[in-house]
Amino acid sequence: MTQRQRLISGQELWQWRKIAQQQALAANVSVMEVDWLLSAIAPLERLALKLESFKDLPQIQLQLDIDELDRLWQQRLYNRLPIQYIAGVAPWRHFKIAVSPAVLIPRPETEQLIDLAVAAAKSSPLPVEQGQWVDLGTGSGAIALGLAEAFPQAQIHAVDRSNEAIAIAKKNAENLGFSDRISFYQGNWWEPLAFLKGKLSGMVSNPPYIPSALVPQLQPEVANHEPRLALDGGEDGLDCIRHLVTTAPDYLQTGGIWLVEMMAGQAEAVIELLKEQGSYTNIQIHTDFAGIERFAQAQRNSDQVKENEENTFV
Ligand code: GLN
Repeated sequence: MTQRQRLISGQELWQWRKIAQQQALAANVSVMEVDWLLSAIAPLERLALKLESFKDLPQIQLQLDIDELDRLWQQRLYNRLPIQYIAGVAPWRHFKIAVSPAVLIPRPETEQLIDLAVAAAKSSPLPVEQGQWVDLGTGSGAIALGLAEAFPQAQIHAVDRSNEAIAIAKKNAENLGFSDRISFYQGNWWEPLAFLKGKLSGMVSNPPYIPSALVPQLQPEVANHEPRLALDGGEDGLDCIRHLVTTAPDYLQTGGIWLVEMMAGQAEAVIELLKEQGSYTNIQIHTDFAGIERFAQAQRNSDQVKENEENTFV
């Protein structure tokens, strides 16, 4: 039964697509989502969809029953379910990352964290690209995967509080061939990583950073469907970033890289936190492609420097 429904004719799919496009228009959803979804769940290129050349195919294999597809599509239209959760995948860098409502959909701006990690490693006098890196709050595993690819000699450790997220991240590492390079841990921030104290080359994180009161005001796709655990950064949005500023110096080796994503308007506060902590040097803010101050970067200073600094105040 299921198998039969997953095989449908080009004509039938063409009809479904036409109606879905009309519904998208009426519901103020981008019409392009229809073809994006079909290209994710059927062996059809975007061009074949655009040119409608699939219409004459006798059979097309879908990954979902057409009824189930339609049911989820109605959820997209009237319940604002993100299209990536229906497709079960999100493109990120050049990966296809499996996602479910248990994980945040990896965002395009977050792709830049990997480029920033690479640039930071290049300008480091230490061979950090061969060291140990962590992705805290890994979710789908996107950042860990990006790091594993960018640093082929590194060992990556990825942590998340959610068991469901860890299961998805592991699946992604397997699918993309990085299982041997990434270790996954369920736990709270550094909790499972005590053995890495003082040894880390780099910490990268896209922590929750939205102020609690703002979460319900985000677009309904985000507010109603993405995991609150991945979004809510407490009253001022900085609870997790503050925690990472305070705790990372115990884990980073001297010269180790600290790199996080944040929200528009948080840069000044994050710079202040990093400065106040006293264990960081080379503090930098980077903008995303939209020009928003989106990333904060720093390096673990040597305790020597810290002591000297303290001496000057005596
Ligand atoms: N950038 C995400 C958003 O706009 C938030 C992700 C996060 O809190 N880390 O919804």
